[in-house]
Amino acid sequence: MTGADKNAINLRHKTRTAKHKQVVDKRIAAAKVDKGLLLVITGNGKGKSSSAFGMVARTLGYGLKAAVFQFIKGKEEVGERAYFVRDPNMRWERCGEGFTWETQDRDRDISAARAGWEKAKEALADPTVHLVVLDEQTYLVNYRYLSLEEIMPAIEARPAMQHVVITGRAAHDVFVEAADTVSAIRDVKHAFRAGVKAQQGIDL
Ligand code: ATP
Ligand code: MG
Repeated sequence: MTGADKNAINLRHKTRTAKHKQVVDKRIAAAKVDKGLLLVITGNGKGKSSSAFGMVARTLGYGLKAAVFQFIKGKEEVGERAYFVRDPNMRWERCGEGFTWETQDRDRDISAARAGWEKAKEALADPTVHLVVLDEQTYLVNYRYLSLEEIMPAIEARPAMQHVVITGRAAHDVFVEAADTVSAIRDVKHAFRAGVKAQQGIDL
């Protein structure tokens, strides 16, 4: 390639990226709304809870308050909890007895879910809490532990600037419709199916 060819390529690249920047800058300038968001992270792929906990890290990083309510799998330890609870701005509640096939006791699961939801409602009414994570909340609805009529009013009436993240597979349409941002993580491959155990720092 000659020097002239290289210059032509560089010039085309510069023109194209400058145009791209104009478009992006325009979009950024057009986004003027500040509001508390409802996010739903669903789908069968790995990355739902870890995404929500990533937003907890972002929140705590700014010195803001975050609250996590870990439904269903409340007995399991995850690295994020061990780390984040050192921060006085973190409230982390484990509100489950484990998966249905572990507990095999529907009444106990329902009372754990209800007790957890009562605590979550406190955070959803507290304007000093910047971010509330309702981890594995979708199952509470899907297993009929709690009704949408019990859940949605508390989410809708939350402080205007409070963000809420709901995680779990098969999110109900009502959650999806109410949400501002929805991601469905697709399961392409998972090491578990090749016989790999849950790995610290990756899976828990
Ligand atoms: P993570 O907490 O890693 O973000 P997740 O919240 O998307 O995962 P869950 O259904 O809550 O997924 O399950 C959490 C655990 O199950 C993790 O150990 C994760 O690696 C594993 N897992 C998630 N998706 C799959 C899958 N499709 N097949 C097998 N194991 C999975
Ligand atoms: Mg999860």
